[in-house]
Amino acid sequence: MKRILVTGGAGFLGSHLCDKLIKEGNEVLCVDNLYTGSKSNIHHLMENKNFEFMRHDITFPLYVEVDEIYNLACPASPVHYQFDPVQTTKTSVIGAINMLGLAKRLKIKILQASTSEVYGDPEIHPQPESYKGSVSTTGIRACYDEGKRCAETLFFDYHRQHGLDIKVMRIFNTYGPRMNPDDGRVVSNFIVQALKGEDITIFGDGSQTRSFCYVEDNIEGMYKLMNSRDGFTGPVNIGNPGEFTMLELAKQIIELTNSKSKLIFFPLPQDDPMQRQPVIEMANKELNWKPKINLTEGLQATISHFQKLLF
Ligand code: NAD
Ligand code: UDP
Ligand code: UDP
Repeated sequence: MKRILVTGGAGFLGSHLCDKLIKEGNEVLCVDNLYTGSKSNIHHLMENKNFEFMRHDITFPLYVEVDEIYNLACPASPVHYQFDPVQTTKTSVIGAINMLGLAKRLKIKILQASTSEVYGDPEIHPQPESYKGSVSTTGIRACYDEGKRCAETLFFDYHRQHGLDIKVMRIFNTYGPRMNPDDGRVVSNFIVQALKGEDITIFGDGSQTRSFCYVEDNIEGMYKLMNSRDGFTGPVNIGNPGEFTMLELAKQIIELTNSKSKLIFFPLPQDDPMQRQPVIEMANKELNWKPKINLTEGLQATISHFQKLLF
């Protein structure tokens, strides 16, 4: 039995990861400062003898004894990471240094939840791991994008300088049950608006694209990456190559919820990427991974989660 640290374990992805690790027969130490996560995401685990929750901010040192680390702590929604941008960069950079220091002391494997945002507003489409990205250093998304890019640099320098065993995962837009309904991300916003019969808020003309991966597929990819062959570090893209415009997403959600909501248009936020789609050949070859759940199936599961939550 391994004792595994999950930072950001009370968040959307982190809580699903805690479930998966416990199901696989591990002990989980979930560390979270509850900035965007919540105890309700892990409520069902609190009585489990293999689960432990610690309220802690990873920008401060952490001395615990564990066998593996998944570093997920960081707000992921633009609304939340831009609310306190300095704290976002601190979480990504100082948080990474602390978790890498912990991994170095214990000589254990550490996985980083990086992001497709390292590609910025990409000029190459779709995006392979070799693409170096087009990121603003000064815009309103930079606190997150540059924080995550610096964290990747730190992971690779700890790997080269200290021989640390690292795994870096570039996550593309992921959705599913336990997304925070007030999160501000597009899938949760549209579903909540459609279910409440409110206007659907389209930013820009809605022609920008994203590729949406269902949470279960994402967690499977994350687990396979942590348990991949020795020496495989990534970075590796994990996402669903199905690409949709925000208008297509809105239409599909309106249909699936049978909603009478109308579309309403707002200006596109600064530096909002126009397109995004992962190349997943590396994940396929190295991890024998590809997503199994298409957008319609995933949206149906997410909609029924929100239906229960809201009504
Ligand atoms: P989330 O906001 O639901 O979860 C993040 C968790 O980290 C929250 O529980 C939050 O309270 C916690 N946290 C934030 N700052 C912390 C700190 N300083 N110390 C301790 N805990 C802290 O977001 P998510 O969607 O679950 O994302 C998890 C990770 O995956 C993030 O690192 C994010 O950047 C990455 N990611 C997610 C997506 C996605 O589409 N969901 C895409 C790309 C990357
Ligand atoms: N650290 C931690 N837990 C540990 C070991 C280290 O939180 O078990 C933090 C500590 O704050 C340190 C940072 O990780 O500053 C980086 O550690 P490293 O050993 O790389 O560098 P140091 O700053 O100790 O020289
Ligand atoms: N978006 C939108 N309406 C919303 C929220 C988001 O049109 O209510 C757009 C947003 O401008 C972006 C896309 O949806 O182009 C995805 O946004 P999200 O915040 O979910 O993720 P990210 O931009 O980080 O991929």
